[in-house]
Amino acid sequence: MSSDSTGASALYGANVFSEAVMRQRLPKNVFKALTRTISEGTELDHSIADVVATAMKDWAVEKGATHYCHWFQPLTGMTAEKHDSFISPTGDGRAIMEFSGKELIQGEPDASSFPSGGLRATFEARGYTVWDCTSPVFVKNDGTNITMFIPSAFCSYKAHALDKKTPLLRSMDALSNEALRVLRSMGSKSAKRVVATLGGEQEYFLVDEKFVTKRMDLVLTGRTLFGMPSPKGQEMEDQYFGTLHERVGSFMNEVNTELWKLGISAKTQHNEVAPGQYEIAPIFSSVNVSTDHNQLTMETLKDVAVRHGFVCLLHEKPFAGVNGSGKHNNWSMTTDTGVNLLDPGTTPQSNSVFLVFLCAVIRAVDKYAELLRATVATHGNDHRLGANEAPPAIVSIFLGDQLTDVLEKIACGDESACEPGEEIRLGTSTLPPLPKDATDRNRTSPFAFTGNKFEFRMVGSSQSTAGPNFVLNTIVAESLSEIADELEKSGDVNVAAQSIVKRIATEHERVIYNGDNYTAEWEAEAEKRGLPNLKNAVASLEVLSRKEIVDVFEKHKVLSADELEARKEVLLEQYSLGINIEARAALQIAKRQILPAAMTYIGRLAETVDEVKGLGVSCAVATEALTEAARLADELGAGIKALEAAAAKACGIGEVIEKAASYRDEVKPAMDVVRAAADGLEAIIDAEIWPLPTYAEMLFLR
Ligand code: ADP
Ligand code: MG
Repeated sequence: MSSDSTGASALYGANVFSEAVMRQRLPKNVFKALTRTISEGTELDHSIADVVATAMKDWAVEKGATHYCHWFQPLTGMTAEKHDSFISPTGDGRAIMEFSGKELIQGEPDASSFPSGGLRATFEARGYTVWDCTSPVFVKNDGTNITMFIPSAFCSYKAHALDKKTPLLRSMDALSNEALRVLRSMGSKSAKRVVATLGGEQEYFLVDEKFVTKRMDLVLTGRTLFGMPSPKGQEMEDQYFGTLHERVGSFMNEVNTELWKLGISAKTQHNEVAPGQYEIAPIFSSVNVSTDHNQLTMETLKDVAVRHGFVCLLHEKPFAGVNGSGKHNNWSMTTDTGVNLLDPGTTPQSNSVFLVFLCAVIRAVDKYAELLRATVATHGNDHRLGANEAPPAIVSIFLGDQLTDVLEKIACGDESACEPGEEIRLGTSTLPPLPKDATDRNRTSPFAFTGNKFEFRMVGSSQSTAGPNFVLNTIVAESLSEIADELEKSGDVNVAAQSIVKRIATEHERVIYNGDNYTAEWEAEAEKRGLPNLKNAVASLEVLSRKEIVDVFEKHKVLSADELEARKEVLLEQYSLGINIEARAALQIAKRQILPAAMTYIGRLAETVDEVKGLGVSCAVATEALTEAARLADELGAGIKALEAAAAKACGIGEVIEKAASYRDEVKPAMDVVRAAADGLEAIIDAEIWPLPTYAEMLFLR
């Protein structure tokens, strides 16, 4: 082992009830039963729960914990926690630290104030949290209490999923089952479980706290609702991978330390494209653990930022005119025997397995492109997708030239234009080596193959990764299920696999695009190919009610029809609520800060004009400034009235889709009008009077 001057290896996982800790602290048979449950996805044997609970509690108490909580992920997309104390009075004035298997397995928070999309009426408010033993328990210090966190799923009394984790876990089972069917029919029998893996790269902005406290828009909505562009933006490209500022460097160090303790390792961290923008990439793990880790990462970024005098902005578009933030969702499938199924491999056998799984993904992404688009549909992401910046709202796949060529050679078949000897035969041919280096990357693609995994780049920076991944797992499971049906029936598996790959490569060729996704030509070309282009969240969320979408979730037991409908409602509600808060914040700032500043300025100008007139001098510049300021102030005033009317109208609509559409079509444009007038005023008003920190200050001063 190499020496480690930072002590990182001692810190790593120090606060996690990890496999190593379990092995050390649990009786052998209990350890075995629990790890089998975790690795093979089998049901948990309740008889061992008490033993596990006691060992966990002892470990946590040694770390100073006094409380435990079931930690879950309601449909808000945030995390929630209900804390209880380990302390239990003994009746003789003393107390002991106690924790039972029952308390470990199940909790009962009052669920009434979490969104349920109508699945749970308030009169039957009971909700249950259920221990998810596949994601490790950890201990966290919030400055006051040290608490043991139990990752949990959250469901209603009637067992409806009320959270992001339940469908994710269900989709992992579905994917594993169907992938195993395919693997077995292709002759590989050793795997007992296939796990979807995720590495979520997180982008964020850091802004000095002293500016944020003066901007209610940032405090309340996470983005600037006003602000003229900074004279310098990102055009010099001097931020991307540039030297880290010292204060930012020390922030990142502390983030790393905190994350290491939780068993989350940041592999890379660097400046992003926009000024003030950064990225952190963890080492991948199962999608479930990774989703939990991403939530913890977002929370840690925010907490640590404050300690360094920063505010961490996770919003998709905090600043107009510079890049927004996304979350690169690196996804693959791995067997419990350690084989990455999206790794091309070097033998004909591994190649053909690879090509079949690759095609399963291609088919899924093409067939369910609209559904995939819907998984990233939020009001924040609407500022990003399709807005001439990474990536467009059209879902397409980048495969790279070599791999596209391979598929073409398989597709070309007998009557083909293939050169003799060029055709690739599954099970006998070896693939040409495929490049894995970054030079071959297409940074504009929403769904890019990057050597041994796919990178889904449409995910928003503030989103939970659960939604995109339970959908990805489900649609790929559906493809694999169809493929397995065919393979299982066939006499010769190589012949069957060949024809499956050939068919998918032909039928779904339209989704493959290796060019620049940001261009208008691609938009036109995509339309010709018949690819959907759902430009906003509301339009894409409507897709969730389609019968073929409902069917695929029901078939794989990921969501029932009513669970899916509830989710659609919650997402639409959140869209409306989000824009409503923005509209109200914009109105307050415009009325209480910007308009008064404009009045002060106009008043001063009027005095100046009078004074110079009194002196018998003509000062055209003062008169012009006065006229322009008055014109913009009138525009702002009219804009405020129109925005008030639009917001009141949208707020009064009951039906969720109609309401969301009204926020999209009427409130948002009305906000844009208010902003345009305000930004115009900012450009001419005396800097001394202007009430809000500017883009230049926020983006460049740290
Ligand atoms: P790249 O060079 O393609 O960006 P990296 O190795 O830097 O690849 O990884 C980028 C992200 O992808 C990291 O978060 C990494 O953990 C994750 N990743 C790598 N391999 C896999 C995989 N098989 N499944 C899921 N995520 C992965
Ligand atoms: Mg990336």
